[in-house]
Amino acid sequence: MKYIDEFNDPDLARRLLDDIHATTTRPWAMMEVCGGQTHSIIRHGIDQLLPDSIELIHGPGCPVCVTPLEMIDKALAIASLPDVIFCSFGDMLRVPGTDRDLFRVKSAGGDVRVVYSPLDALEIARQNPGREVVFFGIGFETTAPANAMAVHQARSLGIGNFSMLVSHVRVPPAIEAIMQSPDCRVQAFLAAGHVCSVMGTGEYPELAERYKVPVVVTGFEPLDILEGVRRAVHQLERGEHRVDNAYPRAVQEQGNPAAISMLAEVFEVTDRAWRGIGTIPGSGWRLSPAFRAYDAEHRFRVTGVRTQESGDCRSGDVLQGLIKPNECAAFGTICTPRNPLGATMVSSEGACAAYYLYRRLDTAPPAPPKEATPVG
Ligand code: SF4
Repeated sequence: MKYIDEFNDPDLARRLLDDIHATTTRPWAMMEVCGGQTHSIIRHGIDQLLPDSIELIHGPGCPVCVTPLEMIDKALAIASLPDVIFCSFGDMLRVPGTDRDLFRVKSAGGDVRVVYSPLDALEIARQNPGREVVFFGIGFETTAPANAMAVHQARSLGIGNFSMLVSHVRVPPAIEAIMQSPDCRVQAFLAAGHVCSVMGTGEYPELAERYKVPVVVTGFEPLDILEGVRRAVHQLERGEHRVDNAYPRAVQEQGNPAAISMLAEVFEVTDRAWRGIGTIPGSGWRLSPAFRAYDAEHRFRVTGVRTQESGDCRSGDVLQGLIKPNECAAFGTICTPRNPLGATMVSSEGACAAYYLYRRLDTAPPAPPKEATPVG
């Protein structure tokens, strides 16, 4: 298949690996930002093929995982209201809130629907003028343009019963927060190719210069990942710190101007809480004042949300690259994809789900989970 088979070629993979092994002279730690890259790495065992001295740290680039608990609880409260049709992508339905998830709301009679596009939700609103239709708009720069377009169309078409619960996040401020953490071990970034296909690469040179880190824009197929690692290692070994586009088949320096312009019209930058990490200044988008009437938080004014994370879940440490998923005591025992304690075990891009799915159970957690601790 064009653009798939070429990027799974074992001979090319061997040549890239030989180059990486020949170039690496000392330990390096690099972070792949995107959860899609994490899944590719674990699925294909790429981390196990690299020199032992190269560590891949899994970053916070899973949109479902970083959506703050407070926003999940607001979604649950809105979805429980009579006369609301709550629309979401499927992977949000099992993300645990403080005391339930959207599936529970649905099974209790809430009208919760899975859609594949925000425009599907807009169409549902058009067909149900007597009901309020809310779309859960989450994600990074990749999903934001389509969500912005749906709100823009709602206004253009005069569909007043449509609104969006917005929890968008932006990658560059997250990279900055990671680099400013006192626990940071990251020496290079594999930047998320799809984010850069929308936003371009213009936000990264300043970060690379300020923190003296190579930033290699990287794709998602096995050879993309190996090429990203190879370029990062070459820069690290030479003491360089540049932005390097290793994904030119999808990423242009200027990004997608139409998408950027739609984002600028519909959204404005805001501080955003990241689940398990905390608030990162300027790391989110919300609807701009011109579109505030379509803001579900504004329309429904949900109050009294009291959040409480599971005491067993260490997804914050996973998302910051401080531990690997299988170092969490709950991993694979009281926390599994069927019974997730944290969002990183739910999402198709979550690091915990990747480790579970691809059987990285070998480095067993050192301590038993709290629930399994003998009482008395
Ligand atoms: S394994 Fe489960 S409990 Fe542990 S960090 Fe991941 S999601 Fe949280």
